[in-house]
This record gives sequence, structure tokens and C-alpha cells, in this order.
Amino acid sequence: MAELFDLVHDVVHFYPRLHGPQPRFVIVHAGERLLPELSPMLGLYAQRKLGGRGIEFRLGARVSKATAEDITLDSGETIPSRTLAWTAGNRPNPLVQQVMQPPFAVEPTMQVPGTPGLWALGDCARIPDPTGGVYPPTAQHAIREGKAVARNIAAVLGGRRPVPFRFGGLGVLVSLGHRTAAGEIGGRRVSGFLAWVLWRSVYLSKLPSVEKRLRVLADRTLDLVFPRDIALSTKDDRHA
Ligand SMILES: Cc1cc2nc3c(=O)[nH]c(=O)nc-3n(C[C@H](O)[C@H](O)[C@H](O)COP(=O)(O)OP(=O)(O)OC[C@H]3O[C@@H](n4cnc5c(N)ncnc54)[C@H](O)[C@@H]3O)c2cc1C
Repeated sequence: MAELFDLVHDVVHFYPRLHGPQPRFVIVHAGERLLPELSPMLGLYAQRKLGGRGIEFRLGARVSKATAEDITLDSGETIPSRTLAWTAGNRPNPLVQQVMQPPFAVEPTMQVPGTPGLWALGDCARIPDPTGGVYPPTAQHAIREGKAVARNIAAVLGGRRPVPFRFGGLGVLVSLGHRTAAGEIGGRRVSGFLAWVLWRSVYLSKLPSVEKRLRVLADRTLDLVFPRDIALSTKDDRHA
């Protein structure tokens, strides 16, 4: 939402005929606070930052219906909307549904109960963690689960016992637009511009080659001094 807000406000001056009400942004969230992955303090920080820009919230609410013109919440409230970004989860791959039963829980070793030789990991498995919860479906976990499951399969083939998956997580960073972010890294809370620089650096470091990293770094450095570089692609030249 933060990115969408920045994009719209960066380009709205290209549309001088757009008069009247300003674009409206509403976050509908089933939880009682934003960003439950972060500490309450950082969740409130995010809410304050986004709210300060005029982004509205409907917390503890669910969308019950969406049409091309509006969305309806379970409270009965209707919000006029032409753009709906749905981020509230997905559904398991049909193949996974064929071979595993909901809720797709596996052993801590990532073995599928009742099916010897079948292993599940990443987004398609609920892997128990030592605190009684389950590991979150994120890439930082999936990458490590992949290595752990390979070691476990080799162990079983070699006649050894597989070991439970254990990973404490590296941290969480979330961009809040306007060159701010919030996050927790190694148990430490970070927010504001420093967190945003960290967020960008982490994703830069994940790019696959030095050439790509340099290209993106150059682009991002130019972004600091020039306005957003936008292009409108359309088949209709009248709008070009
Ligand atoms: C928009 C978005 C943003 C995200 N941002 C982050 C982030 O910032 N940080 C983070 O840690 N995580 C993030 N995640 C989560 C992260 O992407 C996933 O947790 C991670 O990719 C899961 O890895 P996976 O290997 O389980 O599944 P996937 O990466 O989905 O890989 C599954 C693969 O299986 C293939 N496949 C599907 N069906 C078949 C079939 N029948 N036969 C063969 N192959 C098949 C698919 O094509 C795919 O390549 C994000 C996810 C989304 C959607």
C-alpha cells in the first residue's frame, strides 16, 4: 500500500484533468493491528507513518464481497474502489492437495506423516517450530528447509535418523514508502530511513550477479536525486 501510495502521488501531476477528491487508500486487515510479524511497537509505528499520509485502516475487518466498483466488508460497510490488491493468502497447489491432507502439517523433520518417502517443505508445509507454532512461509525459511531436507533424505538413505528442522530466522524488514521502513534484525528493532537503507541493501545483496547489483544500485542512486522514472505502456497512442 505504501508503494502504491507513493506511485500514485508521484504521477498524479501528469493528469492535470484529474480534479476533485484525492485518491483514497484503505487497508483492510483481519488482525487488530498492522504487521503482526513485528513487535507491537513497530506495528504501531507503521500505522502512524501510513496514517499520517492519509491512508485509512479498517482493522479487525474482512472483505466479504468485491465488485468492479466497490468492496463490502463483513461489517456491512461498502467502500467504493476501482483497484483492489488482494494479499490475504492463496490456496494450496492441486498436486499438494492430492498427496497431503489439510492442514498440511509435517513432522519436524519435514516427513509427511503416514507416507514414507514423502517430504514437504516451503510454502506447502506446516513445519512445527520448537515454540509450538509453525515456521512462517518465507523465502529465508524455504531456502534453509531445502538444504535441511536434502541432508535428511541423505541420512535416511544412509540408514541414519533425520533431524528436526531448526532455524531462528534472520529478521523481518518492511518498506513503508517515503524512504522509511520498519523491522527487526537479530532481535533489534529498526525503523525510519536507516531501516529503509537496510531493506534496500538486503534485497540488493540477493540479486543474482555483480552486474545486476551494480545496475540496480546505479538506478537506485539516481532515484535519490531524480523523480520516479515512469513509463505508460498502452496500445492506444492517444494516451502515450
Ligand atoms: C509477493 C510476494 C512477496 C514475498 N516477499 C518475500 C520476502 O520479502 N521475503 C521472504 O522471505 N519471502 C517472501 N515471500 C515468500 C516466498 O516467496 C516464499 O515463501 C518462497 O518462495 C517459498 O518457496 P517454495 O520453494 O516453497 O515455493 P515457490 O518459491 O513458490 O516454488 C515452488 C515451485 O514449484 C513449481 N511448481 C508448481 N507446481 C509444480 C508442478 N506440478 N510440477 C513441478 N513444479 C511445480 C512452481 O513453478 C515454483 O517454481 C513473498 C511471496 C510473495 C508471493
